[in-house]
Order: sequence, then C-alpha cells, then structure tokens
Amino acid sequence: MGKNQAKELLRQIPGVDALLQMEAVREALLRHPRRIVLEAIREELDEIRHRILESAGPYPTLEPMELARSVAQRAGRLAAFTLLPVVNATGIVIHTNLGRSLLPEEALARLQAICSGYNNLEYDLGRGERGSRYVHAESILRELTGAEAALVVNNNAGAVFLALNTLAAGREVVVSRGQLVEIGGSFRIPDVMSASGAILKEVGTTNRTHLKDYVAAIGDQTAMLMKVHTSNYRIVGFTREVPLEELAALGREHGLPVVEDLGSGCFIDLSPFGLRGEATVQQSLRAGADLITFSGDKLLGGPQAGILAGRKELIEKCQKNPLTRAFRVDKMTLAALEATLRLYRDERQALEKIPTLRMIALSPEELSRRAEDLAAALEAQNRQSFLRIEVRPGFSQVGGGSLPAQDLPTSVVAVQSGFLSANRIETILRRNEPPVIGRIESDHFLMDVRTLLPGQTETIATAFGRMIGESVNR
Ligand SMILES: *Cc1c(COP(=O)(O)O)cnc(C)c1O
Repeated sequence: MGKNQAKELLRQIPGVDALLQMEAVREALLRHPRRIVLEAIREELDEIRHRILESAGPYPTLEPMELARSVAQRAGRLAAFTLLPVVNATGIVIHTNLGRSLLPEEALARLQAICSGYNNLEYDLGRGERGSRYVHAESILRELTGAEAALVVNNNAGAVFLALNTLAAGREVVVSRGQLVEIGGSFRIPDVMSASGAILKEVGTTNRTHLKDYVAAIGDQTAMLMKVHTSNYRIVGFTREVPLEELAALGREHGLPVVEDLGSGCFIDLSPFGLRGEATVQQSLRAGADLITFSGDKLLGGPQAGILAGRKELIEKCQKNPLTRAFRVDKMTLAALEATLRLYRDERQALEKIPTLRMIALSPEELSRRAEDLAAALEAQNRQSFLRIEVRPGFSQVGGGSLPAQDLPTSVVAVQSGFLSANRIETILRRNEPPVIGRIESDHFLMDVRTLLPGQTETIATAFGRMIGESVNR
C-alpha cells in the first residue's frame, strides 16, 4: 500500500508551470529574479519527491497553496544577503565571529569619501607619477607610535608571516616555549613559522624562560629573537618571562633583530578601566623592539589590517619582499585605518569615538541603567507573564584574543520562561531579523548590554514580542 500511495503522491505534485501561475509565486517573481524563483521551485519539488520516496510515511500533504508559499519563502532565503548585521548581546566587545571591531563614524565617512570616487591610492600627487599605496597610513603611524617606519598589510597573521619570511627564511628564530600561541582559526606560531620558511628554536619551559636560555640558543643560524603576546591565555604560578628590554639588549649585543608579535596592539593605557598588563605599542617600541606587529581590528578598533612598525631598514626589507603583494591592503582598509588612527591624536576623543574603546570604558552605572531599560522594554512585551526577567551583575569579555582572564564587570538581563527552554529562546532570537546573539547560562538566556548599540533595546524587545505573540497564539 505504501508504494502505491507514494506513486499516487508523486503524480499529484504540481508542475513548475502550474506553480509559476500561483499567487504566492507570482508575487515572489516581482521581488526576486526569475532564475532564483525557478531554483526555489526546483529545490522545493526535489525535497518533496525525496521525502515521498525515502520516508515510510506519513507523507507530506501536497496542498498547492502551501507549496507555493514554501517556494516563495525559499526564494526569499535564496535571494537574501548572507552577510547580515546582527545584534551582539554577548558582551564580548571584540567578537571575532561577529566581525570584531565596529568602525568609528569617522572611518565610515572616510570610506564613503574615498571609495565612491577615484583617489590617489598609488599616485604621487606631488610628482605626478606612480606612487606607493604603502605611504598612506604610514605617516600617522609614525607620528603616533614613534616608529621610524611602518607597513600595513591585510591582517596580523600576514604581518607575522611576512616578518618571518623576510627576516628569517631558512634560519632560526628563538622563541620561548611559553609563547607558542594558537589563536582561533588555526593560526599557530609553530605552523606559521614553518610555512614562512623560518626554523623554530624553542627555548625555556612552558612556565619559565630565562635570558640564559636565549643566550644558549644563539648561534650561526640565528636570524631573530621573537616575543609573542600570549593573547588568549595566561600562565600563572611559578613563572618567568624575559622582559622585552632584556631581550632587546641581547639582540643588540648579537646584532639580531628582536621582533614582537603584540597581537592586539593597543595605543592607550587601559588600566583606568580595570585592564592590566597590556603593553601599548609605544611601550614596546620604547623598550627596544626592532619590529612589532599587531592587528587593526582588535583593541585598535579599526578595520581588519596587520601593522608592522619599527626600524626603517627592516620595514623596507619587508616591503621589498614579493610576498607583500599577496598581503596587500585595499583602499578600503587604508581609508578606514587612516581615519581611525587620526582619532588617536587626542586620547579623550579616541575613547569617545572608537566603539571598541567606548564599550570597554562604559561605567558600571551606565551599564546598570541600560540593563534596567532593556528589562523594562522586555517587561512591556511580557504578555501572560511569559518571561521571568531579571537584571543581574555579570562579566563582559574584551575578546579577540585580548586580555584573557580579565573580565569587565557589567549588568546582564537574564530571561527564563515556563513555556520555552533557554535553548529554544536562543534559537528563536538567533533566527530573528536581525539576528540577536546572546548566551545561555544555567538555563537562562543572557543579554549583556555592553555591546548593544543605540536602538537595539527596541529591536530586542520587538523580537521578544514576536516570539511571545507566536507562542501564546499557538
Ligand atoms: C590575533 C593575533 C594574531 C592574528 O591576528 P589577525 O589580525 O587575526 O590576523 C597573531 N598573533 C597574536 C598574538 C594575536 O593575538
């Protein structure tokens, strides 16, 4: 009987032409390209055939109107953008999965101004001839950091690779065992080192490395001494790292460049905000690093970029490496980076106008007020006491592999429902338009207001209102 029923169902499936005549599909054709609507029909019909043939029943009902609506919905999904704005309610300020740093208004305006027209990206306006794109952010970087020279590439992984390949291919780089970092997304110092052609010479132990360990490792094959910021972990207890000053002195003594991968690359002392132990770019250079590398979109708060800064002779070598072309930055990066960097000419201005710094600097009072506002907005949607809403103290993270184990006190709104599990709430909000990303902690859905932008309290309340409406009416 199953087989005959299946055959009968297959016969009943409407054809493409019939579907194209149906109201919901005709409306979809007004909104989306025909090619996409046809693809949606094909996928929808394939899925139905598959379900009929594979399943032992119960078979799907083939209500044509419902099918047409499914086609329209699928066409909507196929036509939609895949890169979407989302609401970050995780409290993780530099969230690599959610796009890291938000650009300051000044950078957005600059992007618009530079990228909507032609520009002098590689044109020397003084001489009227071909110029270099690498000059653009360099002068402001020199001004802010005190470095002799600087070079901007696509990201910090590229900057580290370029420095290693240029200065140490085929020779040894001395690094402490305690600094063999893995950053998310498979950036591992030992792997980057071997891909660049440099030979890793590990010294010391996981918890303790002494200057004498570096001294003992230096030989004919040594090309560089390297220090890597342990961005995303901390070694505590019986530990010892060699300060950059001592490493720099050792490098000078042996004529070896000392390179530091700073990871985040912060320009401002963040200790007033309760964040300790993050050396600034300026401090590293003053301590004697010959070359440093850091990201543009971590604590710096600009676009994705990798910045090399330090001695002119080393920067010039990196720039001449043919691989630099493979890490080359676009005008978009340079426009946004230059505009972001200019804000650092005045530290107060940087803290106000760079979203990453602004979010880090939010006061506990302000966060508490924002959390109360969000709770009140949710309460206004809370039909039939669907939710239990509570404001609690919590902790935000800086994120982006910066400042591990240093959480910032914040206020969170915790939500629980007798009707939906925290997991279900999380899923519904994640699938909202726009998606709202929070986190789950002991069966509560948590939203940290630190990373919310103006207007998003209402967005979240609307999403909850819709969720409650749909659940209550069911
Ligand atoms: C983040 C980080 C990197 C990689 O930087 P990207 O800008 O993500 O390429 C490299 N080294 C350290 C120490 C980091 O923290």
